[in-house]
Amino acid sequence: MSQRVTGHTKLLGLLAMPSRHSNSPLMHNSAFEKLGLDMVYVCFEVGLNEIEAAVRAVRTFKLVGCNVSMPNKSAVCRYLDELSPAARLIGACNTIVNKDGHLEGHNTDGIGFVSMLKDSGVDIKGKKFTLAGAGGAGTAIAIQAALDGAAEISIFNINDEFWANGEKTVKKINENTDCKAKLYHLEDKETLKKEIASGFMFVNATGVGMKPMEGMTYIPSADFFPKDLFVVDIIYSPTKTRMLELAEEAGCRYINGTGMMIFQGAAAFKMWTGKDMPIGCIKNVLGV
Ligand code: NAD
Repeated sequence: MSQRVTGHTKLLGLLAMPSRHSNSPLMHNSAFEKLGLDMVYVCFEVGLNEIEAAVRAVRTFKLVGCNVSMPNKSAVCRYLDELSPAARLIGACNTIVNKDGHLEGHNTDGIGFVSMLKDSGVDIKGKKFTLAGAGGAGTAIAIQAALDGAAEISIFNINDEFWANGEKTVKKINENTDCKAKLYHLEDKETLKKEIASGFMFVNATGVGMKPMEGMTYIPSADFFPKDLFVVDIIYSPTKTRMLELAEEAGCRYINGTGMMIFQGAAAFKMWTGKDMPIGCIKNVLGV
């Protein structure tokens, strides 16, 4: 590292709280090294109170760009100069690109999700699926899937502060795309079981299954998953959530969120460097 970082090295980073657990530094720094790019990616612990100042610092220190994660993805939007159509529709940004002081906000979470499916040989075009979670990640997945030709999405959320967000997402999808979206209460297990059975894929985009809800799931039993269902949990730590254990018990094909994390990073990497992330090398580095 002492030889790699020089006075010319360009800086990128993550603006999140917490941020120290993130795989992004390992992923991006490995890719910079592999491609011989004089760039370094670090984590900044930045919460909602500091996000405006952090965006000013991105301009001051001329960072090439940034990732943005919880709790800043929505709040950061108002401090940027321009939002991509997906970031505007989703109402959240996970990637900033600094073009000579003009800050563009993008959202690569949905792209990461769809690319992960493609990488697993799964096509959503013309198909119906069920999604739990109407937060930042769930919204990005639903909107990108609708833009990419999914026929129907049944979205479930508990009756919390994200419910209204789910209502907005369903409205946006129904008004702006050919996809039909509906919102249901995650507490209504009978409807959940029925909707899961009528789709080809079930996706968890809630925080249930990772800390502080590790070991938990809102799926009552393995018989909620028909054998031919494709099950996705976008959580990647732990690598196998309780929900994925149930999917395994039911005999379903399943994946966790590592691929989504890699491909959302790859989309950001391309925007910052103009180059394709060496995906094979990154999978090796991350041990997947
Ligand atoms: P968020 O805070 O925006 O949304 C949280 C969601 O969880 C909401 O839908 C909320 O209603 C739901 N929820 C919270 N407590 C619940 C409970 N007890 N029962 C049922 N639902 C509950 O968070 P987010 O950014 O959307 O992230 C959601 C999850 O997705 C996190 O676990 C995060 O780590 C993961 N994620 C993964 C990737 C990836 O690349 N693999 C990317 C983004 C997020």
